[in-house]
Amino acid sequence: MTTTTRTPTTPVTQLAPEQRLEQSLAILRQGELLDRSEIYINGSWRPSAGSGHIEVVNPATEQVIGSVAEGTSADVDAAVAAAKAAFPAWSTRPASERAEFLEKTASLLAARVDGYAELVAQDVGAPIWLAKAIQLGLPTFNFGHYASIARSFDFDGQVTGNSLIVKEPVGVVACITPWNFPLHQVALKVAAAFAAGCTVVVKPTEVTPLLVFALADIFEEIGLPAGVFNLISGYGPEVGEALVAHPDVDMVSFTGSTRAGKRIAEVAAGSVKRVALELGGKSANVILDDADLEAAVTNGVSNAYLNSGQACNALTRMLVPADKLAEVEQIAKKVTAGFEVGPWTAAGSKVGPLVSSTQLERVRGFIQKGLDEGATLVTGGVETDQEHGYFVAPTVFSNVNNDMTIAREEIFGPVLSILPYSDEAEAVRIANDTEYGLAGAVWSGDADRAMRVARQLRAGQIEVNGGTFNPAAPFGGYKQSGLGREAGAQGLDEFLETKAIQR
Ligand code: NAD
Repeated sequence: MTTTTRTPTTPVTQLAPEQRLEQSLAILRQGELLDRSEIYINGSWRPSAGSGHIEVVNPATEQVIGSVAEGTSADVDAAVAAAKAAFPAWSTRPASERAEFLEKTASLLAARVDGYAELVAQDVGAPIWLAKAIQLGLPTFNFGHYASIARSFDFDGQVTGNSLIVKEPVGVVACITPWNFPLHQVALKVAAAFAAGCTVVVKPTEVTPLLVFALADIFEEIGLPAGVFNLISGYGPEVGEALVAHPDVDMVSFTGSTRAGKRIAEVAAGSVKRVALELGGKSANVILDDADLEAAVTNGVSNAYLNSGQACNALTRMLVPADKLAEVEQIAKKVTAGFEVGPWTAAGSKVGPLVSSTQLERVRGFIQKGLDEGATLVTGGVETDQEHGYFVAPTVFSNVNNDMTIAREEIFGPVLSILPYSDEAEAVRIANDTEYGLAGAVWSGDADRAMRVARQLRAGQIEVNGGTFNPAAPFGGYKQSGLGREAGAQGLDEFLETKAIQR
């Protein structure tokens, strides 16, 4: 990512909030630069205390399409002060009133889904159907769902002996998020935090920040009280760490790499902050010998290519009976051929580009490593036939051994490893032989057997026979995939303190 000192053009914040989406899209369609160089603190837009800018690049064209401010620790101080000042009134407001703001947010996201999808497609590179269904679909669901949770949650109800157990918001929350589903990861934190009565400072990804800025526009439009939501763009080691270390931040909710998560936990320990971490994964898809092979492999291959493989819960290790390896390879190759690679503007495009040149080099490096370490290339590879953009061909390796780099490290690209096993016990052992534990899957013709194996997998989310993703179910990792759970009622609990009052 490039830092520039280029003079910003007119910020869209000079328009009324309800006009900014259309104006932003008009700017992008004309090939002009979208200026989002102001940050949102205490209910208004202002320049950062620093003078640097971070360029936003369209990964399908490699063109710079806009810029955001490179925030500073002085911005962090101002945003945290605003969030702290807003906390007493917001946290004591009836939950039903907080829910109204969440409902209005969900309604506006739904009403303008086409425009927001176009915005995020330019930023992340996701095909438009994916942008609508997931990049927008999940946040819209979560804002609505947390409104209903806030309305029904019993903050004040439990009695144990002479104690009343009450649930109270934890306070000011710093939300730090990644680039693959940029609004979804913010929504999971902000919607739950608002439902709980917390105020927030959001530091979105510096790579794909545009849709999060559009969310701030929505909050301004619906009249969210000043200071409840604050937004600072910038880099992790500067803005992110300043937030994590800040004495007036009560909790850090982080989604991103395990590397950054470890650093955040370390810095947060200095002030014994609550830390919620949603980190990386290397999830296993265990296909048992009695499974419907065609269905299981087709589903598993498609899963590995979702969002160009840039999904933390991607099932990147497909475990198959050794005597079925050749048949599995054939199916995987056939399914992959149907995954057309292309920009979001191309109608048939199923796999968009990777998010950045850094990510492209990283993924290509892993593919080369797979070749060097002796895995069998079934389809794909290092080369692509796209002239522009950070595209990589969907790639399948077979005969992968669980000690190989491509079986151990999170690649975050459309790269699937097929690993043979000899029996069920070995499949479970290989599945669990990873430092991660975010997700997994089991396929079997026998539902009881599938459930038995699902219980043996050390991971937070397991799909059985293609069971679909449930956005209301708790999401989070075992082992180095994280701490805590997001989504649903359990996700609300992350943002609550428990107080026992003895009478
Ligand atoms: P990243 O860790 O590089 O960055 C994530 C965020 O953390 C960014 O906003 C970044 O600026 C910030 N950051 C980086 N270093 C920091 C530091 N020292 N202190 C404070 N903040 C810091 O991750 P990424 O490359 O943006 O995203 C990809 C990673 O995110 C993958 O590893 C993926 O598995 C993970 N992820 C996990 C989940 C989940 O729910 N478990 C979901 C999506 C992505």
